[in-house]
Amino acid sequence: MTEQRGSLPDWERLGFTFRETDEYYRCGGELERDPVWDSGEFLPFGTVSLSPAAAFFSYGLGIFEGLKARRAPDGRVLLFRHRDNARRFQRSAKRLLLAPFPEEQFTEAVEGLVRRNERWVPPNGTGTFYIRPLEHAIEPKVGIRPCSSFWVLVFGCPVASYFDSGPENPGQGGVRLKVLEQGRCAPGGTGAVKVMGNYAGGIALAHRWQQEGFDDVLYLDARHVKYVTETSGSNVFVKLKSGHLITPPLDDQILAGLTRDSVIRIARDTLGVTVEEREISVAEALEDGEEVFCTGTAWSVQPVREIDFRGRDHRFAIPDLQRAIRDELEGIQFGTRPDTFGWTTVVD
Ligand code: PMP
Repeated sequence: MTEQRGSLPDWERLGFTFRETDEYYRCGGELERDPVWDSGEFLPFGTVSLSPAAAFFSYGLGIFEGLKARRAPDGRVLLFRHRDNARRFQRSAKRLLLAPFPEEQFTEAVEGLVRRNERWVPPNGTGTFYIRPLEHAIEPKVGIRPCSSFWVLVFGCPVASYFDSGPENPGQGGVRLKVLEQGRCAPGGTGAVKVMGNYAGGIALAHRWQQEGFDDVLYLDARHVKYVTETSGSNVFVKLKSGHLITPPLDDQILAGLTRDSVIRIARDTLGVTVEEREISVAEALEDGEEVFCTGTAWSVQPVREIDFRGRDHRFAIPDLQRAIRDELEGIQFGTRPDTFGWTTVVD
């Protein structure tokens, strides 16, 4: 269900749902030899009009990003590592042969969007402003070929936690995951980038297990069907009994999450934890794992309470390391702890 733009929501009752805000951003681009982008504009939120033959409708030639603006207790609005989202947006575009959107234009679009929709950034403690940049191949096409006309759209809306038991309601227990003995994406496929098709293929799989009370699925690697990779939309960490924190190395099946990278740096540099980026089999994770948690923009640093593998439940204690990392990360993101990494940008 969507809600009409105009009046602000009851901040205490936000969910992770879409609602219309005041303005969105649109920019058109062409790719002949070099990409040429127009200067982009902000428009009142509304519908867009495209040919039914626009290539992305058929072939999924579209990419996206997800990032958040947050309000600090003193009222400032902070963006988190949005230049890194700009770079990942370019990597995703290149994988589908879409025109890469310039980093400078991306950051201006995101900052301008937040400025123009500032009243929709929730008060500190009630939620965040979720920003969704998109790029699609829009030219009419019936052949499976690279495209040359594109739109970049950016919109945003206020959201609360992804889960009822989520990070913005801490301490309510963590998520329950079902191990799927298959990969999320094919070897050599598009798993390392944020493209439409990756998500389309997974919805039915996750839905099947959500019906049985799981929050999401945990995919194994597609080559060996043995190693932990990620969930539908978050990276995974396992703290072993030795105290080491393990996360799968980036490859063609794992998205380079910005939360993942931030967690690695906070664990190493701020908390002095040994972090290893290495393959971890599901057997090792279940036998030697003391804490398991997932990381992502929507999920923040989300504890895993239970993992089901082949019908057997493995329970994990509510994790201490997860909590320390989440407090540090969210402290930086909401401007209540010093940002020694230089990750945040004030939008004014
Ligand atoms: N993996 C996948 C498949 C995702 O869609 C996301 C969300 N972008 C992540 C991991 C986490 O990435 P980030 O921390 O940048 O949100």
